[in-house]
Amino acid sequence: MICDILIKGGEVVDPSQALRGVRDIAVTDGKIAAVAEALEDYEPRETIVARGLLVTPGLIDLHVHAYTHSPFGLDADLLCPAGGVTTMLDAGTAGSYNFDAFRRSEIDRYETQIYSLVNLSCIGLVAANLGELLDRRYADPQGVVDTIARHSDVAVGVKIRVGAHIIGEGQTGWDNLHDALRAARESGTWLMAHIGECPMPIPAMLEHMEPGDCITHCFKGGSTRINNDDGKIFDEVRAAAERGIIFDVGHGFGSFQWDVVEAAIEQGFEPTTISTDLHVKNINGPVYDMPTTMSKFLMLGMPLERVIEISTTRPAEILKQAGELGTLRVGSVADIAVLEKCDGEFILTDSYRQNRVGRELLIAASTIRRGKIVPGGGGTRMRRLA
Ligand SMILES: [Zn+2]
Repeated sequence: MICDILIKGGEVVDPSQALRGVRDIAVTDGKIAAVAEALEDYEPRETIVARGLLVTPGLIDLHVHAYTHSPFGLDADLLCPAGGVTTMLDAGTAGSYNFDAFRRSEIDRYETQIYSLVNLSCIGLVAANLGELLDRRYADPQGVVDTIARHSDVAVGVKIRVGAHIIGEGQTGWDNLHDALRAARESGTWLMAHIGECPMPIPAMLEHMEPGDCITHCFKGGSTRINNDDGKIFDEVRAAAERGIIFDVGHGFGSFQWDVVEAAIEQGFEPTTISTDLHVKNINGPVYDMPTTMSKFLMLGMPLERVIEISTTRPAEILKQAGELGTLRVGSVADIAVLEKCDGEFILTDSYRQNRVGRELLIAASTIRRGKIVPGGGGTRMRRLA
């Protein structure tokens, strides 16, 4: 039997099927054709010898910035092979005024699958230091609803950066947050709220959020955190996670603090999803890529299967693509990451220049998107830093 690609002898980890073991995988016509211990009858056009490597569903990064007309934006197709990521969620780089252009010039042209959130600010993200919602005239909830209706196949939710220097203090801050929540409810989608130095405490903010809404940058340090000054996770945060609010990592260049994440994991509070918040200011460190971010959770003692689940299967559910993406089930889209797990001593840095030493580092060795090997190398930067 002819197939396009045969991945031979890798250790397959597919949390969607509770599968971990050495398997061959055959890919044909962009779909997973077969998964079995030894596929001898296939004549592949291309073979990947994956002995000693991990084979997982293509990684899904739930927080990137891929609209390159913003100063934050990165080229998704360059990121994809380097990081084993086959699907990305652009976290509201564009707003209602520029989303059409984002779609036309980039989303439709990328090989990488891009879903996107629409920023409450009509102009989207213009700079790190200019508050896109300080002037309330930029808040455009109706524009968000219309944009999502017009692009419902790719625009899946709403984004707001909840920082006092972005949405304003006091009532102005609340008004912006309520506009964002209203846009999410009226579009039938969900809200991703970035937490910065927020004008309101997180427990107060959570009271207004519904299951399926998301807090990103959940392990940030600074004045607004998910834990109190003694490091204890707020009861309201725990209760919110239990009722289905998503706590997303969104590492970024200012949003991941070892003290916070270590305290959280110690208290049994895990993130719902791992994501990078990759943009031009953190791709050369401390974030680098999705596998490096995942390695940080291996260092914290989270089992490999769990780390892969919250980087593949779980984000696929949030994007309402369960069964199609984030899985290696026969018949699903052939999005596959081949990862190398290196043993050694690796310096893992948070967003506050604090280092830890990890013993394992994941590196993307090969990335397959819709049944095609994506040209480009794996992530070798961190190996050089070893
Ligand atoms: Zn971001």
